[in-house]
Amino acid sequence: MDKTEELRKIKDEIVDLKKSALADERRANGTLPVIGEGSHDAEIMFVGEAPGENEAKTGRPFCGRAGKVLDSLLESAGIKREDVYITNIVKDRPPKNRDPLPEEIELYAPFLDRQIEIIKPKVVATLGRFSMEYVMRRYGLENELAPISTLHGKTYQGRTLSIDSQGSTFVFIPLYHPAAAIYNQHLLDTLKQDFQILKDLTNHI
Ligand code: URA
Repeated sequence: MDKTEELRKIKDEIVDLKKSALADERRANGTLPVIGEGSHDAEIMFVGEAPGENEAKTGRPFCGRAGKVLDSLLESAGIKREDVYITNIVKDRPPKNRDPLPEEIELYAPFLDRQIEIIKPKVVATLGRFSMEYVMRRYGLENELAPISTLHGKTYQGRTLSIDSQGSTFVFIPLYHPAAAIYNQHLLDTLKQDFQILKDLTNHI
């Protein structure tokens, strides 16, 4: 199977997902899951939290207000949105944009693991603390865990555990969630600096 087929399989599985109250709700109200979007050969994969209202309407990640902030950050660092892959840990919208529950993260995260295995990005950049904590625990960085205010913009080596048993390595960089910068200029400045670190990373690996 090529990458596109493998990613399509993930999509089909999520569309039909049983045992998920979020997926039941999505089917009941006619909204869409948000699987991910971008280049299947991306060097950078961004991992957000969960779809919001606009995302669940369109099926596209980061297409609402947080998405506008993300677009401006990408532009400030000279990174093209079509060159990266953007996804979330939780693929269905939590009602009223509440935080994802631990059991929702547990249910949906294996799809993220597979997306990382398939796309093999050089850099995994998490957006916000939920995806940061998940990736750090999952990829052998649990001893480094600390508040996002301490870890943002720092870089770590992550390793996939892998279907083909060889695994692959990636650089991991935790970033603040763009939504946190909507009303916070200081955080926006910090995010811009961190996106520059991210851009410089891709020039060196
Ligand atoms: N916030 C997220 O974490 N993901 C999206 O796709 C949109 C908003």
